Amino acid sequence: MGGTFDPIHNGHLVAASEVAHRFSLDEVIFVPTGRPWQKLGDHEAPDAGHGARDVSPAEDRYLMTVIATASNPRFSVSRVDIDREGDTYTVDTLRDLRTIHPTADLYFITGADALDSILSWQDWEELFGLANFVGVSRPGYELHAKHLATHLEALPPNTLQMLEIPALAISSTECRVRAARGRPVWYLVPDGVVQYIAKRKLYRAPKASSPGVS
Ligand code: ATP
Ligand code: MG
Repeated sequence: MGGTFDPIHNGHLVAASEVAHRFSLDEVIFVPTGRPWQKLGDHEAPDAGHGARDVSPAEDRYLMTVIATASNPRFSVSRVDIDREGDTYTVDTLRDLRTIHPTADLYFITGADALDSILSWQDWEELFGLANFVGVSRPGYELHAKHLATHLEALPPNTLQMLEIPALAISSTECRVRAARGRPVWYLVPDGVVQYIAKRKLYRAPKASSPGVS
């Protein structure tokens, strides 16, 4: 399961847990993006979560993902995207995971919103040959593959499967905005992630600088 995970939240964890159960997966590997090309501003830096934004440092996103998944023996975190130079494209993620796990049956988990934009992803024609895809429901988005139908016709059945999961209307954007405004993120993200956000002062709104003071 790829994501920016800025921060990882319970919606991600429920999606992973449901797909693992339904497809009898041995493991779910969370892959935090290095530089998410669709989301980056000019710098990797904390922000208040509004509009076009900068993304938190990769190591913070990686550590939050480790903290959130540590207690589940079937969850792990991969650094392939963080350690690769340049922008992150899912096609590279899947190629790297295939190299690391040459005999595995790979499934890529993606929410309904991400599935909508899949045709804009780099080398998307190759994606369906590298893994099976599982599209999961997400509140506020329609789960469908109408835009993919003609592309899937030539591929084996079950290359893309859809799964309704328990609805959690949580987004990382909302968590960042809450943290920036001093509102609670308890129970939206795992406890350890709440504490990590506070400890590293992530998502704090930048202080307005007074004239003459640097
Ligand atoms: P942001 O608001 O910063 O875009 P996000 O909550 O969408 O964050 P991402 O890291 O962008 O989280 O998402 C990673 C993957 O998890 C995507 O495939 C996304 O569709 C899926 N996902 C995120 N939140 C949910 C949710 N509440 N329910 C189902 N899937 C989700
Ligand atoms: Mg998103």
